[in-house]
Amino acid sequence: MIQDLHLHSNYSDGENSLREMIETGINLGIEELGFTDHVWKSSDWTDQYIEELEALKEEYTSKIKIFTGVEAKLIDLNGELDIDCNLYDKDIRIVAAIHRIPKGNREYIRQSEIENSLELSKRYWFKGFKSLVLNDKIDCIAHPFSLFEAMGISNKDDLWWQEISTIIDSMPFKIEYNVKYNNELVPYWIWEKYAEKIVLGSDSHSVVDLRNRYKELLEIGIKINSFKL
Ligand SMILES: [Zn+2]
Ligand SMILES: [Zn+2]
Repeated sequence: MIQDLHLHSNYSDGENSLREMIETGINLGIEELGFTDHVWKSSDWTDQYIEELEALKEEYTSKIKIFTGVEAKLIDLNGELDIDCNLYDKDIRIVAAIHRIPKGNREYIRQSEIENSLELSKRYWFKGFKSLVLNDKIDCIAHPFSLFEAMGISNKDDLWWQEISTIIDSMPFKIEYNVKYNNELVPYWIWEKYAEKIVLGSDSHSVVDLRNRYKELLEIGIKINSFKL
C-alpha cells in the first residue's frame, strides 16, 4: 500500500490545489492520499474544504482513495486542540500535532526557545504528549517526534524512549511516520513495535514536495509493512 496521509493544499499554507495534489499522487502511483490542512479555532473555510474533498473523492474513486482530515495543534496540557469543536462531529480525520510546547494557560515554548530551556522543554513536551490521550476525538498524531532534534534527543536515550513507549501503548490512535523530519533519532524498535499503529505521511505543501518525498515514502512503506508480517 503506497500511502501519504499528511498533505497540505492552498486551503491552508500549501501552494497547490486539492486537485493538483491528487493528480500528482495518481501519477506517482500513490494509492491513498490524506489531506490535513492546518486549522485554528477561527478557521472559516472548513465546510467548503470538506465539500470539495467529498466531490473529488467521488470523481477519483476508481483511481485513488482520498481521506479528508485536518491538522490541529495542541494548545494546552489537557489534550485541547486549536480546532472548532464542530469539526469533531464531522466524518474526518482529526490529526493532532505538537508544533509548540504548551506550558498551560496559553503559554508556549517555541521551537526556537527550546535550546535555551532543554530540561523544561522535555518536561512540558512529555506532559503535552501524555495529555493527547485525554482527547478521544483524535485519530492520529502528526510527526510525533519532530521537536526532538531541537530537544537534543537521540536514539540512544533509552530511558526517554521507554517512557514514550509506555504512553504510545495507552494511545488508541495512529502514529505518523513522517518523512519530512529526522527519523534517524527514533530508535528502530519503536517503528517495529508500533507498526500496526503507523501511517505514512510527507507533510508536503506542494506537488514538488510530493514528488521529492515520494521515494522515501515508498521505501519506508515497504519496511513498515515487513514489520507487520
Ligand atoms: Zn505539523
Ligand atoms: Zn502538516
